[in-house]
Amino acid sequence: MALLSTTDFPLLIEKNDGFSHGRIDLHCHTHCSDGTLSPQTLIDRAVNYQIDVLAITDHDTVEGFDIALDYIVEKNIPIKLVSGIEISTAWQGFEIHIVGLNIDINNLALQQLISCQQEAREQRAVSIGEKLAKCGFEDAYHDAKKLAGSGTITRAHFAKVLYQQGHVGTMQKAFDEYLGKKGRNTQKAYVKPVWCSIEQAVEVIHAAGGSAVMAHPIRYDLSAKWLRRLIVYFKESQGDALEVVLPQMNPQQRQTMLNYCLEYDLHASTGSDFHHPNKWSDLGRNLILPDGAIPVWAMWK
Ligand code: AMP
Ligand code: MN
Ligand code: MN
Ligand code: MN
Repeated sequence: MALLSTTDFPLLIEKNDGFSHGRIDLHCHTHCSDGTLSPQTLIDRAVNYQIDVLAITDHDTVEGFDIALDYIVEKNIPIKLVSGIEISTAWQGFEIHIVGLNIDINNLALQQLISCQQEAREQRAVSIGEKLAKCGFEDAYHDAKKLAGSGTITRAHFAKVLYQQGHVGTMQKAFDEYLGKKGRNTQKAYVKPVWCSIEQAVEVIHAAGGSAVMAHPIRYDLSAKWLRRLIVYFKESQGDALEVVLPQMNPQQRQTMLNYCLEYDLHASTGSDFHHPNKWSDLGRNLILPDGAIPVWAMWK
């Protein structure tokens, strides 16, 4: 599989205002994991939002890529699709997400890692289902599987089931009361996942020719000291870039992330982490990289 190079999207490289018009989004989800849109509908939405370069980064799967690419070719849509994935990893009791960008989706090592992660997800889903059954929600596993269909099963599917059936008032409450973990506090249906390590994820992404990006560093609920430790570990594991921009981040947070990039010689990535249409964020919105950031796509020579 031929990977993209920066010459495939010269606009972003030559015209810095390419960034400021939200033309690139390197983190989003489809119904191949816990997003609600099909890859085709996501591409249509990206067209409406005038996005030039898009990466679909579903949880532990690359299934959406070919579907989206076929659609782009069939409809002659002027979007450069970057292959991607968001891999769940375990580090010091935290779940850290590593995004792989511009990867060969057919790479054997990548396919093997995906199989392991999917197996771990299935086992965890069964255990979550058992715990929820004890809480009185007997069909939760069955209903979550049905919701996930042939896509990756995630806790978001369980949260949606609990929400749709009126057991909790919001998806967030499902995490707060049943599925989540806060510090050492685990909720009633929390199951410790068995993910690969950060090192393994980075190694496989590199084996597949891609760039390894630490997803949403601000979302791990880490103190400044622990976040620095995580970034140091990521760098030692040969990680390439930090996601310095998410739509919800304020300028101060973006600057802090940029400072980590500069201090540890890491590239910068940007993405919406779009899952479904909502009023707070959308594809390609508010994703300008701060001045001085070296974009992750500068690696794609
Ligand atoms: P999993 O990878 O199976 O642990 O599922 C994690 C997914 O659930 C994340 O990618 C989010 O989309 C969603 N999620 C995680 N925490 C929350 C939360 N507190 N509220 C709503 N959605 C969440
Ligand atoms: Mn998700
Ligand atoms: Mn994530
Ligand atoms: Mn994500």
